[in-house]
Amino acid sequence: MLATRFTKMFGVDHPIVQGGMQWVGRAELVAAVANAGALGFLTGLTQPTPEDLAKEIERCRGMTDRPFGVNLTILPTIKPVPYDEYMDAIIRSGIKIVETAGNNPEKYIPAFKQAGVKIIHKCTAVRHALKAERLGVDAVSIDGFECAGHPGEDDVPGLILIPITADRLRIPFIASGGFGDARGLVAALALGADGINMGTRFMATKEAPIHDKIKQKLVDSDERQTALIFRTMRNTARVHRNSIAEKVIEIEHKPGSTFEDVRNFVAGVKGRHVLEAGELDYGIWSAGMVQGLIHDVPSVKDLVHRIVREAEEIIAGRLEGMMRERAQAAE
Ligand code: NAD
Repeated sequence: MLATRFTKMFGVDHPIVQGGMQWVGRAELVAAVANAGALGFLTGLTQPTPEDLAKEIERCRGMTDRPFGVNLTILPTIKPVPYDEYMDAIIRSGIKIVETAGNNPEKYIPAFKQAGVKIIHKCTAVRHALKAERLGVDAVSIDGFECAGHPGEDDVPGLILIPITADRLRIPFIASGGFGDARGLVAALALGADGINMGTRFMATKEAPIHDKIKQKLVDSDERQTALIFRTMRNTARVHRNSIAEKVIEIEHKPGSTFEDVRNFVAGVKGRHVLEAGELDYGIWSAGMVQGLIHDVPSVKDLVHRIVREAEEIIAGRLEGMMRERAQAAE
């Protein structure tokens, strides 16, 4: 077992998080993650209304008695989102862990704090992490350029972002973006993080509530098959590189293009259809560079336990072995 500030703060066995994923973070997956001893998050906005979110929380409770949380992402959307009502639904449901993401969480912190909710704020820059720390969040998830979804506009990969965060942040933090196996977990811990967040890797598990064709596509794809859309709108998103992503990039780079020109291609409801029906080119769907490291579709339990077991083997075997060899050579 790997004990870190993160496992102690959130009462979980393993320093592994399944963060918010639009259309994927549903009760089946989150409960499986919780039952495996890691921390899973239901994705708030995957539920069409706050009432549906409250029902999904109850559904998840029916499948696990371990801790889990809810993700609340605040980014531009096609239809306005009643964020306050989602926040109320989270608090009224008795959820005690929230992952905020996408924007400054300041407005929501007092109500969450008053309700005894611990907040992990996910962000893509150290300055935003420090600001969140000042605002009183409990932990940070720092998201490198490798990630799926929105990597921000600074393009700083984890190998730089994680140690810089470790140097400057006092509260516990987990490393996000590009993680999918034990080597990544050990590296993140060595760079100063208290754990890892994985998204894309959890999509390729038996319990992920998405079509098998998507899981197989993740297994078959390499690290180059992602694309960055919305760069021209400063709302960059890393998605799986399919014909729609390439079309969107072509359109948005035409002089004078606006969001309206790509709106029909990128709508989240189309992405949802991709994931549910396995129609790979029907819309855009998020995937990180880590797909190049995904070679199978295990159960969540097998994945989490494999990562932890192999991480212990790397630390106690490979790394300590190097120290022993050095000590023997010096004798
Ligand atoms: P949606 O259907 O409202 O929008 C689809 C995409 O277009 C989203 O990426 C959104 O950020 C972007 N968008 C919407 N309006 C925009 C505008 N005016 N300018 C620039 N970009 C715009 O969203 P959805 O797919 O239903 O997702 C709901 C929420 O979850 C959004 O906030 C979205 O950004 C977020 N999301 C996050 C991830 C992630 O991996 N972090 C992945 C998918 C969606």
